[in-house]
Amino acid sequence: MSSSYKLASRTNHPRNTLIHVGPVTIGGEEPVLIAGPCSVESRDQIMHSARVVAENGGNVLRGGCFKPRTSPYSFQGLGYEGLDLLVEAGRTYGLPVITEVMDSEDVGRIAEKADILQIGSRNMQNFTLLKAVGRTHTPVMLKRGMMSSIDEWLAAAEYILAEGNTNVILCERGIRTFETATRNTLDLGAVPVLLERTHLPVIVDPAHACGVRRWVAPLAKASLAVGAHGVMVEMHPNPAEALSDGEQSLTFDEFASLAATLVPAWAAVC
Ligand code: PEP
Ligand code: MN
Repeated sequence: MSSSYKLASRTNHPRNTLIHVGPVTIGGEEPVLIAGPCSVESRDQIMHSARVVAENGGNVLRGGCFKPRTSPYSFQGLGYEGLDLLVEAGRTYGLPVITEVMDSEDVGRIAEKADILQIGSRNMQNFTLLKAVGRTHTPVMLKRGMMSSIDEWLAAAEYILAEGNTNVILCERGIRTFETATRNTLDLGAVPVLLERTHLPVIVDPAHACGVRRWVAPLAKASLAVGAHGVMVEMHPNPAEALSDGEQSLTFDEFASLAATLVPAWAAVC
């Protein structure tokens, strides 16, 4: 066992951690499907997305309100106004919501409304932020840093656990390699490694890894085949007009057909 993580290690905690978010259990036998737009853009957009997520058996609604964009000139998100819209959409359709928190100053205010806090890839080693979410009791989904090893990732999870928050979910979202055909390289090999080393639930986000809509479904199915506890995908009423990540966002029809195949795919490989 690496000495950089103890609380995250399966050695000290052999049983899987189950995270309960409203009616949803993450880390158990049933895979979870987290879906929604990359960013909350308008009331119509998030309400329509939430309806489609719920109607197709999705479990959690995602939507970014504080966006970590590579360029400061790109859409930065609707902030707290977006969070209110996300929460309203989730409540309307009975879906818990997940949204990214980028700044430790915002943690308390976002945790009052969101059901799961997302720590983005770019902030995986923002230790001040990790400690701040660790002081809440709100579940946290920690995305893998795009340049981080599995051990570094588990050590980052340890920061959250060490502050007392035991509700940590890991999310593989692709890492940087020499390969340029995909946006990042989805490291599906990390999933069985994590299942061996840690008791924390593991989710895979194929969209941020591949960056191309038509590769999301096959990678989502593969994620479940290697043992992930669920997947997160982006979808949008009109991906061509999306203010962020349109190229990798599924149309509603594509989302519906993916959702219809995920659960049978899971049953077939288990
Ligand atoms: C996101 O989920 O929209 C996101 C920005 O993801 P990542 O931090 O993995 O790039
Ligand atoms: Mn995105």
